[in-house]
Amino acid sequence: MENIEKKEQLYEGKAKKVYATNDPNLVIVDYKDDATAFNGVKKGTITGKGVINNKMTNFMFSLLEKEGVPTHLVKEISDRETIVKKVSIVPLEVIVRNVAAGSFSKRMGVEEGKQLLCPILEFSYKCDELNDPFINDDYALALGIATKEEIDTIKTLTLKVNAFMKDFFKKLNIDLIDFKIEFGKTPDGQIILADEISPDTCRFWDSTTHEKLDKDRFRRDLGGVEEAYHEIMKRIGLGE
Ligand code: ADP
Ligand code: UDP
Repeated sequence: MENIEKKEQLYEGKAKKVYATNDPNLVIVDYKDDATAFNGVKKGTITGKGVINNKMTNFMFSLLEKEGVPTHLVKEISDRETIVKKVSIVPLEVIVRNVAAGSFSKRMGVEEGKQLLCPILEFSYKCDELNDPFINDDYALALGIATKEEIDTIKTLTLKVNAFMKDFFKKLNIDLIDFKIEFGKTPDGQIILADEISPDTCRFWDSTTHEKLDKDRFRRDLGGVEEAYHEIMKRIGLGE
């Protein structure tokens, strides 16, 4: 691990850059401060976000590994950069909802904050040109996006992630409203958790005040965006 070298940039996304390394099975992700919403229509900067999302993702992934969820995490190498296992990303945004919010509230005409009777696991097809359309298992199977076995594994791991995170954040007086995760496939076919877990990809509400402590502050121009990201880090025990 000592001699991993950063090579050419393979990809620049909305929130991260991905670099090749001298090991074909490893890449380096580099977290940016750029923030986008509504599929790139709204653009801005959240100062310090890249550092927070890198450190928080690695912290959550280490805890999840201990819970038996395999992840792409290999080694954090700087404030913004982490070496991860290179995977072929399953093009599904895997979303879990515990409380109604966002697009679910809009689609279903349910007020934000309504407790759901059970967690909802839903899929969006990861495709910016189509605006990440909502799909179900049959779409994924019929289009060859994932096999039955892969979908089963993704669902089992996702529910494990939800159960662990809901409990973890509750102890910090934070309600985990919903979140999005992504999975990837290693060259030997194993499904592992990839991408990130951060205030960009989760909705966090203070359990007492219901204050939003996530990217909705940016999406909805609520102000106090940086403060919210720092507050999450402080409660996790990673704040300065
Ligand atoms: P987007 O592509 O939606 O703009 P990002 O800016 O977060 O998102 O870019 C990071 C990209 O890297 C995403 O497309 C994500 O699916 C991909 N990715 C995440 N983890 C890995 C990994 N371990 N191997 C390869 N690609 C990954
Ligand atoms: N989410 C995400 N990336 C996306 C879409 C959603 O990380 O491209 C997260 C979002 O932060 C929220 C959850 O997934 O925690 C559910 O989002 P929703 O479908 O309500 O969409 P939104 O209201 O964000 O458009």
